[in-house]
Amino acid sequence: MSASLHAPAQAATGAATPTPLITLSGVTRVFGSGSAEFQALRGVDLNICEGEFVAVMGPSGSGKSSLMNILGCLDTPSAGSYRFRGLEVQKLGRDQRALLRRHALGFIFQGFNLLARTSAQENVELPLLYRGEMATDRATAARKALATVGLAGWEHHTPAELSGGQQQRVAIARALVTDPVLLLADEPTGNLDTARSQEIMELLVSLNRERGITIVMVTHEPDMAAYAHRIVHMVDGRVALDLPQLHSDERRQPGPSSARLAQA
Ligand code: ADP
Ligand code: MG
Repeated sequence: MSASLHAPAQAATGAATPTPLITLSGVTRVFGSGSAEFQALRGVDLNICEGEFVAVMGPSGSGKSSLMNILGCLDTPSAGSYRFRGLEVQKLGRDQRALLRRHALGFIFQGFNLLARTSAQENVELPLLYRGEMATDRATAARKALATVGLAGWEHHTPAELSGGQQQRVAIARALVTDPVLLLADEPTGNLDTARSQEIMELLVSLNRERGITIVMVTHEPDMAAYAHRIVHMVDGRVALDLPQLHSDERRQPGPSSARLAQA
């Protein structure tokens, strides 16, 4: 499974034919029943190609997190279809969806969601533990992921000993350690100040550009959405607007690398 899920990305380098990664058709999500029924998603059609960096915006309650949960195989549509690299996700069993999550997806949340009283290193190793990987391999991969996000030397610090920006970097390292195809970030800078937010965004941009990782990121902040290639606006459970950002590459400084970020 993981071999086909890890086919090389193309769109990141501007290659001719972008490969579809995500295809949502008529996706709905209904919570509750009877008079308490609520339609969080009301027919979402969305295509995202390999190597894209998409920002999802929209008012509170418009269905952004519901959409992310479906993209992340944490939830399933009430109706409609979700294909991931052509694979019909809703036809997979619970265990197969878990495998897809562990091998192809990475998650970043607003609240970091790190285990307290657990070192950065152990937090980052966790997804590999779930995958049953050996201790030495886990340790090597976790150190490498922490170095990628500029946290070499911080392996043994617990979340309480790290700043908010550093905690989010640990969370990004935890998402990266499985070498994901798709990174899903739900308001990743929502708890950070502007300078820290920009650092996190530059890190995401470099992961997208240099590793070809596809990113879907929910944000309320236009300044953060401006880093993406494309902005999808959700209103009342539907895609109301889906706009490319034509000048996002020119606006950015050329190629912020992880190495440079590590020194910042
Ligand atoms: P957003 O992330 O854009 O703020 P959400 O996707 O979290 O929106 O929620 C969309 C709507 O669906 C909201 O009105 C919310 O109350 C409702 N909703 C989300 N999750 C559930 C749930 N598990 N049970 C009932 N209603 C839910
Ligand atoms: Mg939300």
